[in-house]
Amino acid sequence: MKLYNTLTKKVEVFESNEPGKVKMYTCGPTVYHYAHIGNIRTYIFEDVLEKTLKYIGFDVQRVMNITDVGHMTDDSDDGEDKILKAAKRDNMTVTDIASFYTKEFIKDIDKLNINKPKIISRATDNIDQYIKIIEVLLNKGYAYEANDNIYFDVSKYDDYYKLSGLNKDELLVGVRDEVDEDTFKHNPSDFGLWFTNSKFDHQKLKWDSPWGEGYPGWHIECSGICIKYFGEDLDIHCGGVDNIFPHHTNEIAQSECYLGHKWCNYWIHSGHLNDKNGKMSKSNGEFLTLNSLIKRGYNPLSYRLLCLQSHYRNNLVFSYEAMDNAQNTYNKLINKIYELNKSKEDLNETVIDEYIIKFKDSIENDMNTANVITYLFDLLKDDRLNDSSKLYLIGEYDKVLSLDLVKKKKNINPKLEEKIKKLVKERETLKREKKYEEADRIREELLNLGVKINDTKEGTEIVWI
Ligand SMILES: [Zn+2]
Repeated sequence: MKLYNTLTKKVEVFESNEPGKVKMYTCGPTVYHYAHIGNIRTYIFEDVLEKTLKYIGFDVQRVMNITDVGHMTDDSDDGEDKILKAAKRDNMTVTDIASFYTKEFIKDIDKLNINKPKIISRATDNIDQYIKIIEVLLNKGYAYEANDNIYFDVSKYDDYYKLSGLNKDELLVGVRDEVDEDTFKHNPSDFGLWFTNSKFDHQKLKWDSPWGEGYPGWHIECSGICIKYFGEDLDIHCGGVDNIFPHHTNEIAQSECYLGHKWCNYWIHSGHLNDKNGKMSKSNGEFLTLNSLIKRGYNPLSYRLLCLQSHYRNNLVFSYEAMDNAQNTYNKLINKIYELNKSKEDLNETVIDEYIIKFKDSIENDMNTANVITYLFDLLKDDRLNDSSKLYLIGEYDKVLSLDLVKKKKNINPKLEEKIKKLVKERETLKREKKYEEADRIREELLNLGVKINDTKEGTEIVWI
């Protein structure tokens, strides 16, 4: 298996510390809002990586954190706590905000067939672990106390710039605009490990510590949780490119200084999700979530397919036109597969081997999922394969793609889907004309077809039951 490693800036052959086993850590969401589809792209790529490693025979152990405290509105730990800000926005308690958006996150990844990591750990459940690490960093002289907060001193760690490949001045460009510099830091890149005295002193969640009542910084949470579950070494750490600096850079610094040796061998990052104007963010345009795509009539798996059609490291340009194309491609695929004869025939072993080799070559080559999609269409029209062989191959490919290509339960007949869309439109017209009784009859009919509908501000939401 070859993977591009951000640490070495090279495509490398992957070797785990322990033969046959992989320890994989993936940064989880900060649960202050629904997940943005840009972040969801990262979770899809991590899922493909996990499934690829499993497919080629590794036993993958995966841990993910849930950030429910300490992630500031600015990644370099100035600004206000995101959860606290959201609690004010939605008029809920911080605990309710975190638990609500955690549940929504789990629902999203479920709709996208993303494996839920066995261990998902909340930042607020591991406070003792962060305190333990910070105490060691203070004792070793890598951290200092200033203005009642504890900071990591980046000047004490020579390899601070190794992940980003940027120098001291380059790192500071662009990360601090619009932010008041924290004047208590010894170096501008120093980052907070523990805050007891923040300018946002209305922080709701606080814990006792040797330095007073306070809360951890965002970066220490991932190091703490990762070391707690995996011990002193780690094979793979993933995230989006946005995480390279400061988050992963800081994770490496504090973990390696705490442990006294190299920590993680492979750092794997996915590219941005852009729109035509550049990076997608809340500030330019609507905040796109999976539910907003569903409400526009897209199947979540069409979004998964859109992501799989481009290389995970490339920037992907999002548009509704691209989503329409992905949805059409997805429906076309399902349609073709639906028409395959399900009765058992002898498998065409030699041709099957050919397609399995192509499949493995692609996924093992830094996860070239776009090639796999091409092979899917190729094999569907390959006359050397009978329908049983085609179904077998599609089943194998889908172990990594997870597009429900052969899973009967969710494999919806496109003709039925068309019928449902027509009924939903009819019902909307009837409602506009205030013919509620007839509209309700259609609702019943839809229920009989396995579809529940919810009326929302944005339109009709279709839920398969
Ligand atoms: Zn993290």
